[in-house]
Amino acid sequence: MYLKNGSKGEKVKSVQEILADLGLKPGAIDGIFGDKTELAVIRFQEDHSLYADGIVGPNTWQALRAALEVHTDEQTLPSTPSVLQSWERVPADKFRDGYNRFFLRDDVAEAYLKVRERVIEAGGLITSSGARRSLTANVSASRSATSFHYTGRALDLFVGSGMQNTRNDPYVIVADGGRYWRVYARAEGGEQMELNAVTYGSRKNGRTVTGKFIDLTNLFQEQGFERIKSRRSFFNGGTWLGAEWWHFQYENGLENGASTFGDELLKVYTEDQLKDTPPWKYRDRVFGENWF
Ligand SMILES: [Zn+2]
Repeated sequence: MYLKNGSKGEKVKSVQEILADLGLKPGAIDGIFGDKTELAVIRFQEDHSLYADGIVGPNTWQALRAALEVHTDEQTLPSTPSVLQSWERVPADKFRDGYNRFFLRDDVAEAYLKVRERVIEAGGLITSSGARRSLTANVSASRSATSFHYTGRALDLFVGSGMQNTRNDPYVIVADGGRYWRVYARAEGGEQMELNAVTYGSRKNGRTVTGKFIDLTNLFQEQGFERIKSRRSFFNGGTWLGAEWWHFQYENGLENGASTFGDELLKVYTEDQLKDTPPWKYRDRVFGENWF
């Protein structure tokens, strides 16, 4: 089984029926694999930690069948109608194993698209390792239960697009004090610069790189996105995943000491969808106090 956008037939129809039963809105159940079906497949894959390429291969098919069985066993609970903000699919530049699109909350998507427009104008790339995180995703040391990714407010540039090869990486990463980074995007229309690039192989001293760049961190900040700190362990030989240079989160509209993680979750999910999930346990975390 290998079904994708453009595929037709009874198998496509079966996939659409399952997606519809799961509430994923694949469009008309007509046996024609179009854009709506593709979006529903991507959504399903993200929720099940599958590679989200919108293609139904053997793994996705097996997961769909399994999800349908679980779903039909569940009792349907009445849910309170609420007005949720929508998730928008936005484009990115595919670089190696990165994605060419990802999902953000609608207002965050709008801000991101402004950043992207500026980067494209200058001839740079915006790569992606994804943005939306499923409520049922595994929580671990590098995947916080209170991540902005659950709320549609965060995105990750492709983790393999910087700190590796300073001559070819789309991004050059420079230490900016307080364990923060400044990300420069290589761009023909940028300014000639000489940068001291931090790489995984030279975390303490960096390497000199010259070329034309734009200040991507600044472009994101102008639209309301902020960066996060790298982990202390990163500078003591810890895993490269602690670098976090790729992460940007939208903080517009959040009030220090008042906005809660739960309020933000409730903007994109119903309480029914949230209850019993790992992030919901942390709903009382307050922005700027114990939620960052
Ligand atoms: Zn992130």
